[in-house]
Amino acid sequence: MLENYLIDWESIVDELKRKNAKKVLIELPEGVRSGIFEIEERLKDFDLAFSGENVYGACDTINDMEGFDAVLHFGHSRIPNLNYSDKVIFVEMRRRVHIDESKFEIPGFTRIGLLATIQYLDLLPKISDILKRQGKSGIISRGDERLTYPGQVLGCDFSAATMIKDKVDCFLVIADGEFHATGIAISTGKETFALDPNTGIIRKIDTETFIRKRYAMVEKAMNAKNIGIIVSKKIGQKRFNLAKFLKEKIEGSGRKASIIMMDEITPQKLANFPFDIYVNTACPRISLDDAELYDFKIVTPQEIYLAIGEKPLDKYTVDMINEL
Ligand code: SF4
Repeated sequence: MLENYLIDWESIVDELKRKNAKKVLIELPEGVRSGIFEIEERLKDFDLAFSGENVYGACDTINDMEGFDAVLHFGHSRIPNLNYSDKVIFVEMRRRVHIDESKFEIPGFTRIGLLATIQYLDLLPKISDILKRQGKSGIISRGDERLTYPGQVLGCDFSAATMIKDKVDCFLVIADGEFHATGIAISTGKETFALDPNTGIIRKIDTETFIRKRYAMVEKAMNAKNIGIIVSKKIGQKRFNLAKFLKEKIEGSGRKASIIMMDEITPQKLANFPFDIYVNTACPRISLDDAELYDFKIVTPQEIYLAIGEKPLDKYTVDMINEL
């Protein structure tokens, strides 16, 4: 499993030694958990334990690390504007992927904005070179302070695309699945293509179905009288000020609203509250990817603005975490 990734083991060991760390807690995203025996082997000089908690991004690394000298957080890059404990070490993993130049084609566009999730970032300069050989240009932007690298995209941050939307003809996004590309297409209004790193297939993103489903949710929120506002306790998802602002706005629209603080957000934990719908200020993917799990009763902050008449109904935007 881990052989599909480039991991700088030497730097990890150096960093652990520099911190004089003996007891090390390891956080692994679900997709690479089968690699724990290789990690045991590579770091056999340290006293290791693995976290069994879910970990979705650098936004939810463990804060309570009592008893450990260091936390190795695999798979994500540090979010630069968060104050992590200095015990946390981020271990980035670049996936080994080959792009077949002979099949690489985005017809009809010349200036192409390039983005990738962290594990595919190394492909951006390669694709830029391919585009140059095709007489086109690949444009890579820095984005905001939530992003570590130029061209990086998170499911909650499309700023590396929005900042250059007027300088490009379209976007190409390399990620697993189409969530990031869909977010970029909606937030920029530009034609967007998704490159599937597993197959090399490039598909044009269709936002219509996504937006239709989200408006159905906005309609539910319009009819809601009691609204729960979810705030995450996770270091990079906690938007308490936004929740307070939303509460004021919702109450101003004649509805009732309460703020619910949560660590891991699950439908079971929310089951007994008397709300008609929830607004989720934590990871946007919870509302957008997992709506089914929440019985389609969960909206984003931007969607509640539409529902309560705070923003024009035809101005749909995706949720981004720009400030906490
Ligand atoms: S908030 Fe969600 S999309 Fe953003 S980094 Fe965390 S897990 Fe990823």
